[in-house]
Amino acid sequence: MKKKRVVLTLPPDLIEQPIVYNLIKNHDLMVSILRANITPKEQGRLVIELSGEKRKVDAGMAYLAGLEIEIQPLAQDIKWHEDRCIHCTFCVPTCPTGALHRDEEGLQVSFNKDKCIACELCIKVCPYNVVEIQF
Ligand code: SF4
Ligand code: SF4
Repeated sequence: MKKKRVVLTLPPDLIEQPIVYNLIKNHDLMVSILRANITPKEQGRLVIELSGEKRKVDAGMAYLAGLEIEIQPLAQDIKWHEDRCIHCTFCVPTCPTGALHRDEEGLQVSFNKDKCIACELCIKVCPYNVVEIQF
């Protein structure tokens, strides 16, 4: 099973295209919409997670690459300002994926960008704006 999280930026003429439906129906993928920010007749942004067999995920990505949309890995839109973190651990129980976690000794908080789904729950509890999501 392969998973890929990507941010899609859609021009106005593609906002109403059934892109997610095509990924599911034509490429036999599971698609989770993690975030969506769409304004009719303007640009739209979607954060999706594709899951499935590697060859199917690759075929789905090839389909997306053939559309006139911007595709980038989700991780590029997430910043972890480690220098601001005071390791208070407030965010750790809030993070649903374990992206924010205690290290092995339990004294420091670390961030695994690959696990982050940009839900922004940590942003509400972090007093120092350590996680920044540009979406
Ligand atoms: S946005 Fe914050 S709470 Fe949500 S998955 Fe990422 S690190 Fe965890
Ligand atoms: S809540 Fe903010 S300051 Fe506290 S451990 Fe988490 S990221 Fe660091």
